[in-house]
Amino acid sequence: MKITEIVNKKKPTISFEFFPPRSKAAAEELYVTIQTLEKYAPDFVSVTYGAGGTTRDLTNDLVLKIIKETSIPVVPHLTCVCHKEDEIEEILTQYSDAGVDNILALRGDLPRGKEDYDRNQDDFLFAEDLVRFIKKFNDSGSHTNTGFGIGIAGFPEGHPETANRIKEMDYFKAKIDAGADYICTQLFFENADLYDFRDRCDIAGINVPIIAGVMPLQSKKGMVRMAELAAGARFPAKLQKIVQAVDSDDISDAGRAYAIDQCNDLIKNGIDGIHLYTLNKSQQTIKVLEALNLD
Ligand SMILES: Cc1cc2nc3c(=O)[nH]c(=O)nc-3n(C[C@H](O)[C@H](O)[C@H](O)COP(=O)(O)OP(=O)(O)OC[C@H]3O[C@@H](n4cnc5c(N)ncnc54)[C@H](O)[C@@H]3O)c2cc1C
Repeated sequence: MKITEIVNKKKPTISFEFFPPRSKAAAEELYVTIQTLEKYAPDFVSVTYGAGGTTRDLTNDLVLKIIKETSIPVVPHLTCVCHKEDEIEEILTQYSDAGVDNILALRGDLPRGKEDYDRNQDDFLFAEDLVRFIKKFNDSGSHTNTGFGIGIAGFPEGHPETANRIKEMDYFKAKIDAGADYICTQLFFENADLYDFRDRCDIAGINVPIIAGVMPLQSKKGMVRMAELAAGARFPAKLQKIVQAVDSDDISDAGRAYAIDQCNDLIKNGIDGIHLYTLNKSQQTIKVLEALNLD
């Protein structure tokens, strides 16, 4: 089922994000996590993709395993950096044959070690080009599913590469005009940024569901890593004060309480969906779910 249809039936949707494990042991641990979380009937889960194809097979294997062994709809992420059109078409065909209904279409960033790569060799410069290609694939009739719902990444605080926030919304709207039908956001820790982003989408004439990315923090080290990885995410003073007050590296209680407040406020303010970044762990995610003010 397309994400848009799921949102139409039930609001807010609750979904989880996983990344493909790199070792056999981590894979086994993740399958236990997924089975545990399945009992909470998520509306969908998503699986990340290593830009440049660095996790191509791992992502594919995990997506297929979730389809085969669970009843949870799964959304693979797909990035177009360092990929040719025929590679993308092959991946889309595989997913279509497997019965995948939605794809999160991204540009990605150059993988480590490929910083000097000349992007002019690529068939797709921006996520917009990938969205257009998936739409063309949908319209071509060469798929065996009912076509893909197409999600895109949204950045409530702005994406650091485009400092001009007005131009950025024009680029963002181009992804919708190319065929994207829902937005999943970067994690954020200040809900006002999400509400402002939603209003700016409204002004730009973007009327697709917005699924808010929320990460319950678990450790101070993880928070520092997140600051390096998550393009542009801001850690507001109120969060930093809470974290500072904890003596150990383990901030899971404080991180969870913060995320629960964030989610309940989002629910109160009519968010279309909440996407929890699980870090492939179930316990923190379950405790957040159990504290949400859902009907
Ligand atoms: C929900 C979510 C999931 C993610 N999952 C993954 C994942 O699985 N794997 C991964 O590698 N990365 C992932 N990312 C990270 C993402 O790939 C990077 O943040 C990347 O830098 C931007 O991707 P994008 O799809 O937003 O790119 P784009 O939409 O192409 O935008 C990239 C930059 O280019 C600018 N831009 C767009 N169009 C134009 C234009 N025509 N002219 C000039 N500038 C333009 C934009 O304003 C932006 O600054 C994810 C991000 C989010 C929010």
